[in-house]
Amino acid sequence: ATADTGGPTIFDKIIAKEIPSSIVYEDEKVLAFRDINPQAPVHVLVIPKLRDGLTGLDKAEPRHAEILGQLLYAAKVVAEKEGVADGFRVVINNGAEGCQSVYHLHVHVLGGRQN
Ligand code: 5GP
Repeated sequence: ATADTGGPTIFDKIIAKEIPSSIVYEDEKVLAFRDINPQAPVHVLVIPKLRDGLTGLDKAEPRHAEILGQLLYAAKVVAEKEGVADGFRVVINNGAEGCQSVYHLHVHVLGGRQN
C-alpha cells in the first residue's frame, strides 16, 4: 500500500510522452493507454491529462464533474475500440486500502474475458 503524497507520478511522464506507452485513445482532456501489467486481455487506463488535484476519486470536487464524465465516456469509447463493448468492467481503486498505487486518478477498463 502506498500513500497519496500529492507529488508527481509516473503518469506525468506518460502524458508528456517522456516514457513510452501504448496509447489507445487520446483527446484534448483525456489519455487512454494500455496497462503495463495487464490483468485481462484488454486492460486500459483512462486518465485526465490535467490532474487538477484529482490524486484519487476521494478528492473530487464539484469542479471535477465534467472531467469525471469525460473519463467515463472515454472508457466506453475505449471498450468499443477494443472490441469488448458487450462485456467489460470499469474500476477505480481509491486509497491505500483500496489498492491504489498511482496517485493520479485513473479508470481501469478491463475486458476480453469474464472477470
Ligand atoms: P492502481 O493500482 O493505482 O489502481 O493502478 C495503477 C496501474 O498503473 C497498475 O495497474 C499498473 O500496472 C499501472 N502502471 C504503473 N506504472 C505504469 C507505467 O509506467 N506504464 C503503464 N502503461 N502502466 C503502469
